[in-house]
Amino acid sequence: MKLCEFIRPASLSAARDNLRELGRKGMILAGGTALHFMQDHTPVTAVDITRLGLSYIKHEGDFYDIGATTPLADIQRYRAPRWALHEICRRISTHQIRNVSTIGGNVCRVFPWADLPVILLAMDARMVIYSGQDEELPADEYFATQPAKRFLDGNVLRSVKVPALMAHHGFGSIKVVRTQASFALVTAAAFLELDGATIKSARIAAGSAIPFPRRLPSVEAALVGREAVGEVFKEAAAKAGQDAPWRGREGMSPEYSRHLAEVTLFDALERAATFARGRTE
Ligand SMILES: Cc1cc2nc3c(=O)[nH]c(=O)nc-3n(C[C@H](O)[C@H](O)[C@H](O)COP(=O)(O)OP(=O)(O)OC[C@H]3O[C@@H](n4cnc5c(N)ncnc54)[C@H](O)[C@@H]3O)c2cc1C
Repeated sequence: MKLCEFIRPASLSAARDNLRELGRKGMILAGGTALHFMQDHTPVTAVDITRLGLSYIKHEGDFYDIGATTPLADIQRYRAPRWALHEICRRISTHQIRNVSTIGGNVCRVFPWADLPVILLAMDARMVIYSGQDEELPADEYFATQPAKRFLDGNVLRSVKVPALMAHHGFGSIKVVRTQASFALVTAAAFLELDGATIKSARIAAGSAIPFPRRLPSVEAALVGREAVGEVFKEAAAKAGQDAPWRGREGMSPEYSRHLAEVTLFDALERAATFARGRTE
């Protein structure tokens, strides 16, 4: 994209009007870091949404509501007892990128290496889309295809609602990288709900070594109703090959990617179970 003009609307509804008027000649601009990867030089007018009061994190009821233009650095710094999103944010690229890159930008045009979609799928997040009124979509539906398609007609992501972790809930995310700032070889995330020693429910997701972030239903099915122990985690993680086409890249064969995914899932499960055991209220 080639940014030729720049608009700074005063409200979300004005931004939507601008975008609808501009059609394909307009684009939402948040942190602007994705322009680095959008190689075509189509001239566009940028509609800057970073001054619309959408940079916040609020704990409301059972959710953390994160405004779409909240920088990843703010999410990384945020701490609360029922919150785990900071873990992955500190693993995304560099401080400089995290200072400007927003949660909305990360999840509205999903690149294969994007880490937050993996986490939000495992956490069962809700995406709030403004189209004149707010509509809430579960992450499963939102990430079923490339989300950028949802925003072609002037709609804007307003916020992301992440469920607060309750008693007996645990969450673990692991990003495997060659160097601190590189894209993930594999990102894996596990949400577990325990009933005593038994796994009551599980949401498992992965990304990076597959074409698009997704949940792993065979892994989940191999966990529910079983004991939360290493042997079960190993058995469940070994099902990862049934759920997704693991890709070879950066000198790794597809078999190596799948193996890496399995051991990464195992680590994420161990981490989630440790947190769930310790979270008694
Ligand atoms: C060198 C580098 C390395 C990176 N490494 C990683 C990594 O390892 N893992 C990772 O997850 N990310 C990584 N990123 C960040 C990621 O690739 C994107 O650049 C970033 O998430 C985009 O956020 P942004 O706020 O800059 O969005 P922008 O670039 O402003 O926008 C991105 C897209 O989303 C649209 N958009 C933005 N906000 C909204 C909204 N509220 N509603 C509707 N549409 C919207 C825009 O129109 C655009 O199409 C890296 C970035 C760089 C530059």
